[in-house]
Amino acid sequence: MYIICSDLEGVLVPEVWIAVAEKTGIPELRLTTRDISDYDVLMKKRIAILHENRLKLKDIQNVIATMEPLEGALDFLNWLRARTQIIIVSDTYIEFAMPLMKKLAWPTLLCHSLDVDDSGAIVGYSLRQKNAKENAIRAFGSLNYQTIGMGDSYNDIAMLKAAGHGILFRPPENVINAYPEFPVCTNFTQLSSLLQTILDT
Ligand SMILES: [Mg+2]
Repeated sequence: MYIICSDLEGVLVPEVWIAVAEKTGIPELRLTTRDISDYDVLMKKRIAILHENRLKLKDIQNVIATMEPLEGALDFLNWLRARTQIIIVSDTYIEFAMPLMKKLAWPTLLCHSLDVDDSGAIVGYSLRQKNAKENAIRAFGSLNYQTIGMGDSYNDIAMLKAAGHGILFRPPENVINAYPEFPVCTNFTQLSSLLQTILDT
């Protein structure tokens, strides 16, 4: 029996921070784990930029409410859920993710949470655990599931390496070049076909 652990942003929904950067007109918020691979450095920079611009959690949530899943993502999830189980394992925050989970018909999500002060400002973040993606896939392996990891970026690589099968979905060129051992899919048709092949073997 297989369990699939999939990244969220860049795989099923657009990058939240890029949408926030576009909506707020603050280009520095475009930086993602594709640009800065150290997650803590990236998050501290994002929080500092939000403070400089007096943006609160509600402002970010308002942007996220306007976002839609990537085209074909819901159909893909529905196709997959009839065949095997998928868990979304993300470095996003529960405060950000809920409107997007609704649009994906409420898949199971493992993620982090934000620290918010009385004024509604984001002051920090709480990781559910370190190396959460890798630990999730190892945990399912320990329950005697065969595992498949899918993601698009540096923060997914440990999970892909720990999985029985790792798949890069729509990764940028630098990630493809750095990790040539993983198969690359660029659309949901290719991804479905590769997953079907793995599930059939
Ligand atoms: Mg991603």
